[in-house]
Amino acid sequence: MATGTAVVKEVAGIYQPGSAHMVGDGFPVRNLFPSNDLDREVSPFLLLDYAGPQYFEPIAHPRGVGEHPHRGFETVTIMYQGAVAHRDSAGNAGVIGPGDVQWMTAASGVVHEELHEKNWAQQGGTFQAIQLWVNLPRTQKMSAPRYQTILNVDIPKVELEGGAGRLRVIAGTIQGQKGPAHTVTPVELYDLELAANRRAELHLPDGYNTSVFVVQGLVSVNGSRDAGEAELFVCMRNGSSVAIEARGDSRLLILSGQPIEEPIARYGPFVMNAKAELVQAVNDYQAGKMGHL
Ligand code: MN
Repeated sequence: MATGTAVVKEVAGIYQPGSAHMVGDGFPVRNLFPSNDLDREVSPFLLLDYAGPQYFEPIAHPRGVGEHPHRGFETVTIMYQGAVAHRDSAGNAGVIGPGDVQWMTAASGVVHEELHEKNWAQQGGTFQAIQLWVNLPRTQKMSAPRYQTILNVDIPKVELEGGAGRLRVIAGTIQGQKGPAHTVTPVELYDLELAANRRAELHLPDGYNTSVFVVQGLVSVNGSRDAGEAELFVCMRNGSSVAIEARGDSRLLILSGQPIEEPIARYGPFVMNAKAELVQAVNDYQAGKMGHL
């Protein structure tokens, strides 16, 4: 992962969660964006919700969020602890557990539910996950929905030099290892574990937006001040080197992607380019055009 004389992607800002709320009755989330007004700095990513870690008592009927629509983007759920069951109106269903990822391309529209997996809910336990929303370019917002269950076993693992840690490639390519996620625009998404007092240097494309979310631990990025649990480093687009130094055993989500330079219009679960398209989305949902479970 050495990059020689590569220009560093300087840290432009370090953010704490801008809001905290429940999604349904199963996902106690802290939001990093859009609550921090970072649309341009994190594009193509639209939303980062960090759920938990929180203990849930055993319960007969799984908690979560019932039937609701999406249009115009992708939802990506990354599990750390617990299990989620997904079901959508395009006929796709799947269960993900620790280390697994669900990559759901809503595109022209689906209705889905996201619940704690039944057996896990009945046993209770600690829940911890991240949900990202990844934008689609204008030309793809009305394409057909798609769904990918990405299991831990199918995610390539890169051992860092000298036992510094381990990187799992969910999407994109690093050190010749290609992540299994099919993305619409170029996205690099890594789950990085870095041991205390060790360093990792990642090489990411010049011009990509890049941010580092701290799931656990305490780190510095490109010589910045230290930041810890639930904080987000946002880097400048220019440059290609991201050096991370861990002060304690740390787990990080690395998000990097080619920016989508188009207007963003949001209304709840719909993200389009213009207000008229949001009105159309609401009308189409209410008319049942996104289907039902
Ligand atoms: Mn959803």
